[in-house]
Amino acid sequence: MPATVLVTGGAGFIGSHTCVELLRHGHSVVVIDDYSNSSPQALLRVEQISGRPVDAFHQVDIRDRRALAEVFTRHYPDAVIHFAAKKAVGESVARPVEYYDTNVAGTIALLSVMHEHNVRRLVFSSSCSVYGNANKVPLGERDPVGPTNPYAASKLMCEQVLTDFCRRLPEWKVLALRYFNPIGAHPSGLLNEEPRGAVNNIMPLLTRIAAGRLGQLDIYGGDYPTVDGTGVRDYIHVMDVAEAHRTALERIDEASGMRTFNLGTGHGTSVLQLVREFERVSGRTIPYRITKRRPGDVAVLIADPAAVAQAWNWTTTRDLTAMCRDAWRAQERNPVGYSV
Ligand code: NAD
Repeated sequence: MPATVLVTGGAGFIGSHTCVELLRHGHSVVVIDDYSNSSPQALLRVEQISGRPVDAFHQVDIRDRRALAEVFTRHYPDAVIHFAAKKAVGESVARPVEYYDTNVAGTIALLSVMHEHNVRRLVFSSSCSVYGNANKVPLGERDPVGPTNPYAASKLMCEQVLTDFCRRLPEWKVLALRYFNPIGAHPSGLLNEEPRGAVNNIMPLLTRIAAGRLGQLDIYGGDYPTVDGTGVRDYIHVMDVAEAHRTALERIDEASGMRTFNLGTGHGTSVLQLVREFERVSGRTIPYRITKRRPGDVAVLIADPAAVAQAWNWTTTRDLTAMCRDAWRAQERNPVGYSV
């Protein structure tokens, strides 16, 4: 099992929760992050929860090969988990070059430095968005891909780069995990999804609206062919995602080359169903309005999680109620985010 793990984007939402899980299971953790969508506070909380220090954290841009090389020379990681990326679909439509630069050029820079330093184990954050306008549910890893926005395209390009890389260097071990929709928070209430600037993802919108920090929820599209017209997604608890990464590291040496797995529950929930469950759990009312569809969005995305279940004997264990409850607890414990 890899002892020292370099986590890129480790101060972010999924990265910070994964660091807790890694520290709890005895890994040494080195984090790099440019804090463009996070803050060092998250790492202090990771340490507080796990009762162990993060071995080092470096403020580094993933595209900066020289700075990356220094981190590798200093820490000799056994494996890398690569979360660092830009992730807002709408922003990617408006600023595609930034997305390709950070997500694709950043991944290529990381691969080059890993190669130079003989580090050959990588877990890569991919996304269900690579499937695009899927015409079936649930989605298996062999189903056709077809990204509908630059963010999704950048993730698929990275997968292609990794596939080609592993064909050329078959001793490499790469796992691309296609997350469906991670939400929720650490049950301690100390860690949360705390983006900088505009809030785009559904759960931080719900928690902030419930707490009176934001006005109302805009639901993009009420005319999709779904149970109530709103988009359906496969929400997965962020701690299940974190556990999957720890499991991935435990299993990574079982096979060489590139492998791709979906991470989801296999259950779909519409936006309105999520709103209702969040209202029930929090006891707050969420004002919302239904507006027109957002470019690049799709109607339904639900994972078939069978492949990962079979390969690792691993499944998700937390339900939608836990996702809402833990996110609301984190909001209540941190009324204005990590700053207080
Ligand atoms: P996040 O924004 O909270 O975390 C990403 C982290 O990367 C942030 O801490 C950010 O500061 C950092 N970062 C961004 N650009 C960087 C750069 N140039 N150099 C160094 N660090 C940089 O996002 P997240 O939700 O934790 O997502 C983590 C990964 O999972 C991303 O790759 C994302 O595309 C992928 N993903 C997320 C979701 C989701 O719904 N959250 C779904 C599927 C896939």
